[in-house]
Amino acid sequence: MHVLVLGAGQLARMMSLAGAPLNIQISAYDVNSETVVHPLTQMTTGNDLASAIRQADVITAEFEHIPLDILAVCEKSGKFLPSTEAIKAGGDRRIEKKRLDDAGVKNARYFVIQTYEDFHKAIEHVGVPMVLKSALGGYDGKGQWRLKELDQADTIWAEMAECIAATDHQAIVAEEFVPFVREVSLVGARSANGTVAVYPLAENVHTNGVLSLSTAITDQALQEQAKQMFTAVAESLGYVGVLALEFFDVSGSLLVNEIAPRVHNSGHWTQQGSETCQFENHLRAICAMPLGSTRLIRETTMINILGEDRLPEAVMAMAGVHVHWYGKVKRSGRKMGHINVCGDSSGSVQNKLSDLAQWLDQAAYPALHEFVRKSSTQA
Ligand code: ATP
Ligand code: MG
Repeated sequence: MHVLVLGAGQLARMMSLAGAPLNIQISAYDVNSETVVHPLTQMTTGNDLASAIRQADVITAEFEHIPLDILAVCEKSGKFLPSTEAIKAGGDRRIEKKRLDDAGVKNARYFVIQTYEDFHKAIEHVGVPMVLKSALGGYDGKGQWRLKELDQADTIWAEMAECIAATDHQAIVAEEFVPFVREVSLVGARSANGTVAVYPLAENVHTNGVLSLSTAITDQALQEQAKQMFTAVAESLGYVGVLALEFFDVSGSLLVNEIAPRVHNSGHWTQQGSETCQFENHLRAICAMPLGSTRLIRETTMINILGEDRLPEAVMAMAGVHVHWYGKVKRSGRKMGHINVCGDSSGSVQNKLSDLAQWLDQAAYPALHEFVRKSSTQA
């Protein structure tokens, strides 16, 4: 089997690693350089997009901000999964919100803004405080504003107006500020015959809008709620592949924050913590193979490595610590890799996180230190 992935970053790389044992070969289309590359070496294959599409058995994507003309060509080939509609929902918050409403899934109250008048209607409809997000192109908390007090409105509007003017079809989606107790996400797979297999929920800690720490959790009631919402969204999109839903947990009641129509950073823990990792299950789903078990096999926490390209030897030497580098050039705040920390019990993972905090500094790993601090006060 040959799979062409749109996007040539770490997610395509990890799909390639997971696909090899199944004899699934991956090539990746880098939309920035417009070249087809090998996702591990980044060497160009010499193929152009048209011939890569012809040669592929299946085409998929590792991100949602794909130029629409490329998406259209892929769709025309009849080989694209999960579905171009799902990618569009992930890449445009207006479509995403409508899809969530259509699937009957709870999400934050919202209003779409194009003009200054709309902004004021949004303030009436949604209320203050509110979170404002660009409809197109947002990720890792970029393209967002927080309106906490009405007197900030004009300053924020000036920035939003500039954002709307800068990109065709751009708009802002205003959302009520959700007073969540924590953020969780559900990663799962749906196959073409409608079988759904979800992983245990992950609890996620973001620092400055970027995912920093993710821990697989066991919470039956929340898991059932999340699975029901996941199934509703996946079915309404006719989805095939791995899908992630990000949720706000408002005292035990879930609201969907976002849909990610792809393998997801909050599912990286599955590489060590689950019987079948999310990358393999995505490939299984899109290549019409049976889904693998999503069972938790050991307690795992994932820590993102942001803006660093080395780790102390003591970290590498710790049992139950698995390092995954992405082979990227170091840049401040950039996702360079992640560490999966595994143990026989959540207590043992906890102890390892405390040990790691001695080696990984507070500035680069704020969520780790915060997590260790919180857990020690709870203990
Ligand atoms: P991602 O990289 O996950 O795609 P993103 O930039 O698309 O992120 P969101 O996930 O929508 O953006 O928002 C980033 C973070 O901002 C959320 O994880 C959450 O912590 C906070 N946030 C977003 N929307 C709201 C809201 N309506 N109320 C409260 N906090 C919010
Ligand atoms: Mg998000």
